[in-house]
Order: sequence, then structure tokens, then C-alpha cells
Amino acid sequence: DVINVQPQAAKRIPMTRGNDEFSDLTQLFNDMLDRMQRYIEQQEEFVEDVSHELRTPVAIIEGHLTMLNRWGKDDPEILNESIGASLQEITRMKSLVQEMLDLSRAEQVEVHYPNATTDVKAVTNQVFNNFKLIHPEFTFTLDDDLREATLVKIFHDHFEQILIILMDNAVKYSQKRQEVHLSISRSERNVEIAVQDFGEGISEEDLKRVFNRFYRVDKARSRDKGGNGLGLSIAQRLVDSYHGSISVDSVLGNGTSFRMLFPVYHPEATEETTPTEQTP
Ligand code: ADP
Repeated sequence: DVINVQPQAAKRIPMTRGNDEFSDLTQLFNDMLDRMQRYIEQQEEFVEDVSHELRTPVAIIEGHLTMLNRWGKDDPEILNESIGASLQEITRMKSLVQEMLDLSRAEQVEVHYPNATTDVKAVTNQVFNNFKLIHPEFTFTLDDDLREATLVKIFHDHFEQILIILMDNAVKYSQKRQEVHLSISRSERNVEIAVQDFGEGISEEDLKRVFNRFYRVDKARSRDKGGNGLGLSIAQRLVDSYHGSISVDSVLGNGTSFRMLFPVYHPEATEETTPTEQTP
């Protein structure tokens, strides 16, 4: 009964020394078991993380409703404050649920959009212009040395979403120097999009973990800015799904730079390329 198999309880088969088909099968079985166990552990961790993340807004709403129930009916000040704060927490929970959905859908998205191609030059320019409008207090610069449209095999909304996540973070974690630099460049094989800010930066220790889901360098501050700690995990999963790569460099106190590479799509060519760190 496949459904009732509990991989936690299943046992690895001891390896024999021989170099025959039985050893190959044993190896295969053990590898499959390890993968299933890892998958189940990840799912359990995810449920734990999510419960933990939801506990805070639920507790805050509960506190306000209790207050409203006791004193709020006769006190317009408490009434206003509690309703305002509860609505704010509900907005936060809605965004958390949306981001969790985005995260779970971000894997293997390519299967759902097998023929999608996007002109990344056009979208980068459009996102750049939108940010200038939304954040007039910031200085945005764009280095675009592409002469023509550059296609990548990615669904338009997903490329836009990744770029918005990086740009939003650049704005959110800026300090006094309200500047964000965006660049797009390419080689024959790859296109590179980079977002650089001159803000608070990330320590070497934290840098290893920023792509982990729910990871925030400063939980309380990120929360104040409306962050759930899921943006970079969504971005990384999406980039991976489309055969791209994403990396980050940062100097604490000096700023951060995120860099993405995607293989350029040449409609006339049959073979696809995978990005390499050496190029462009
Ligand atoms: P959040 O919703 O908290 O912004 P992310 O997954 O997008 O979640 O980012 C994870 C954490 O990485 C953030 O909470 C922040 O501490 C750090 N971070 C992300 N981008 C930057 C940046 N450009 N500068 C400094 N810190 C950043």
C-alpha cells in the first residue's frame, strides 16, 4: 500500500560489497529513501515555519479583539486603534498567504509556460520607470547597454516579479543614501541583470541564509516594513526554474548587489545554453 508507506520508518538496505545489479538496485533504493525522507522533513519544517509566522498576527488580533470586547464599545479611541491595528494584521496575513502560494507555485513553473518568452530589456526598463514614479525621493539609475530586444524563456509576470522583489528590497533596506542602480548587459549566451543599492548591507554570516524562506536579518525591522522573509526564496526558486542563476554580494554598511543570469533565447537556434558564472 503505497499511500501508507512511512519513509521515516523504512530502513535503508545494508550495502553489499559486490559490483553487481543488486548493489546498483540497493544504492538506488537507498538514494530514493534519502530523498523522500528529506522531502518529508522539509514539508514538516515548512508547516512549523508557517504556524510560527501566523501565530504573531493572530495573537495581535486576539489581543485587540479582547480589548474591544472589554472596553472598546464605550471608548472611541480604543475602538479606532484596535480596528486599525487588526486590519493591518489581516493585510499582513493576506500577503503572507499570497507569498506562500507564490513560493509553492514557483517550482517547476516552466512546465506551465513551456513557450513563454519575455523581452527582458523591455521589462527591466518598464520596472525602472515604475520605481521612479513610485519612489520619487530615490535616485534610480539604469545602465542598459543592449541595443535590441533580448529574449529569455521565462513567463513575463515571473521575470517582472523577480525584479520587483529585488528592487523593493533595495528600497526597503536602503539607509541614508537613497540610490538604486540597475543594469542590464549581455554576452552572446547570457543576459545579466543586476540591482545594486548603497544601503545597510548584509554581514557574511547572514549572506549565507538570505535565500532561506522566512529568514530575516532583523525580524522586527523587516516586519515593520511589511516583510515576510519570503521574497528572496520566491525569487531564487523562480530563477532556478527557468535555468537562470542568482547571486549576491554585500558589504555590511556599504550596500548590496544582486545579480541574475539567464540564457538568452535565440528563436532560430535549436540548442539552449545554460548560464555560466564566467560570462558575460
Ligand atoms: P523580506 O520580506 O523580509 O524582505 P526577503 O526574502 O526578500 O524577505 O529578504 C530576506 C532578508 O534579507 C530581509 O529580511 C533582509 O534582512 C535581507 N535583505 C534582502 N535584501 C536586502 C538588501 N538589498 N539589503 C540589505 N538586506 C537585504
